[in-house]
Amino acid sequence: MVLNRFLYMMCKDGVKQMDQKILILSVIFLLFAFAFPVNANEMDNMDMSDPNAMNMDQPAAGHGADEPAAGHGMNGEVNWYAIALFIAIIGVVGYYASKTEKLRKINFLNYAPLKSLLKSRWYPLIFVLPTMIIFAIIVIKLFFGSAEASTNFGSIMMWIFLWPILPVLFLLFGRLWCSVCPLSRVCDGVQKKVGMHRKVPKFLQTYGVWIIIFAFLVITWSDVIFGVVESPLNTGILLLFVLTGVVFMGAVFEKRAWCRYLCFLGGLSSNYSMSSALELRADSEVCKTCKTPLCYKGNAKTGGCSMFEYPRTMDSNRACNFCSNCIKTCDHDAIRITPRPPTSELWFIKKPRFEESFLATALIGIVVSQTMIMLEVWEPFMTLFENATGITNFIVAWTLIFAGAMLLPVLLMLAASFISSIIPGRTSNSDLISDQTAEMSAVSKDSTETTLSGFIRYGYALIPLGLGIHLAHNAKHFLGEGFAVFYSSASLVGWNITGDLSILNMPTIQIIQYILSILGVLGAIYTAYKISTNNPNIRSSVVPYIVLILMFGIVALWMYSIPMAARAH
Ligand code: SF4
Ligand code: SF4
Repeated sequence: MVLNRFLYMMCKDGVKQMDQKILILSVIFLLFAFAFPVNANEMDNMDMSDPNAMNMDQPAAGHGADEPAAGHGMNGEVNWYAIALFIAIIGVVGYYASKTEKLRKINFLNYAPLKSLLKSRWYPLIFVLPTMIIFAIIVIKLFFGSAEASTNFGSIMMWIFLWPILPVLFLLFGRLWCSVCPLSRVCDGVQKKVGMHRKVPKFLQTYGVWIIIFAFLVITWSDVIFGVVESPLNTGILLLFVLTGVVFMGAVFEKRAWCRYLCFLGGLSSNYSMSSALELRADSEVCKTCKTPLCYKGNAKTGGCSMFEYPRTMDSNRACNFCSNCIKTCDHDAIRITPRPPTSELWFIKKPRFEESFLATALIGIVVSQTMIMLEVWEPFMTLFENATGITNFIVAWTLIFAGAMLLPVLLMLAASFISSIIPGRTSNSDLISDQTAEMSAVSKDSTETTLSGFIRYGYALIPLGLGIHLAHNAKHFLGEGFAVFYSSASLVGWNITGDLSILNMPTIQIIQYILSILGVLGAIYTAYKISTNNPNIRSSVVPYIVLILMFGIVALWMYSIPMAARAH
């Protein structure tokens, strides 16, 4: 009743006092969240000497369910010092992130040593070289090291270190990782030696993102079927596939066609980077006077933009990987690197795209399904599914469940868009910042939102939510098994060190998962609100989207409140 009344008020009053209402909603949500239990009593600590100790995303049941149970949860009390530190860091970051105007005046390139580094020919090489060496060791270990993922350096680096840490990097630095990724350097090397430098076909430019989405779904699906994560060899084969694609694209097409149009990790980073706290842009006032757009074309020493962007008009972090080519080539010093409030790019998307909204929505399903298979409820759910459908073949059952998990958020989002389009919401103008006024005038006529246009416009609001619950999922891997990176690195130099794998115990991680999920929900609600206020003449209501985001948030909190399964792979 209270919630109904609250939602009714929101519809009735429009969004004039939306900030206040969002605040109240957030407080209710926070209180609700902390009513979720903390599981402090599951199992014994994991140990590196136990080959079954690491879970690495594997299903609790299904194939190979006869394997021995192994501890994955931990005894112990919540480490409130760690939680307080975590909240304090978020508080400080949040405080500075709210100083929008001050942030916009900062240009990191005014800091001379950083500017010299980015202009030097050693950047990004000095960062790529270490990653190439580590990557080479990872590949060798995946193919020739231990067959157990829990003791294989390659598997541990890939799935306990790199994979969990990447979304954090995307949130902080956008696609910066892509410029130090060893594969991008392989692409450059192949191009230099045998490259044909052909133009990327229109087909790839238009539909590449769908190939990325498809590849991402196939890899996630096949991980459960073939055990990509749990098998070093399978992980190595996956890397080999990717490497083949990189070499082929580097040999045939110009620039970093693989990174821009086909890399599945690039698709994920492009999605999350739109939420990031850092942006590289050109100063439009300076660019107006420019007759030689070397940032795009390159000069005698440095190539043009490696990601097919024209910095002069670039208004998104989707593609920019901070390769610094434009910083090196621009004669007018027009490039700026500026901090910004996380998610702020999503408030002003000039040309929203269906494929990006679809990916943002489907990612919710991917993270939820990947988390569910690690939980105690997975096995009873599978039994229930088998009994209800009569399908006993695991591959068929998982394919149907996975497809359902992908489609359900998309269908719910379409339903929210439909409801939104029939509620005659009307929003008022907001706190536009100067460079968004052109966009506003472009939509100044009254227009009716359709189900599809609403889906496309508001799908971006799900990016912070996906990022939040993805980080919560990854927190379990990195904080719960992170010392494995240290032990396995030590074993490379002959030191045999073993011990507890966890950086924090499970009850503490669980609180962190709640916090990250809640931040994702709040970021998503605020983004939806900003999208509505920045499209003041579109006749639709933001309320259905907020309700849907809250529903997803509750599912995430429920999911992270459930104990992990006893069984590991
Ligand atoms: S960034 Fe530099 S090179 Fe590119 S258009 Fe602007 S002024 Fe010209
Ligand atoms: S050239 Fe500039 S805009 Fe293009 S990817 Fe590199 S840093 Fe980004």
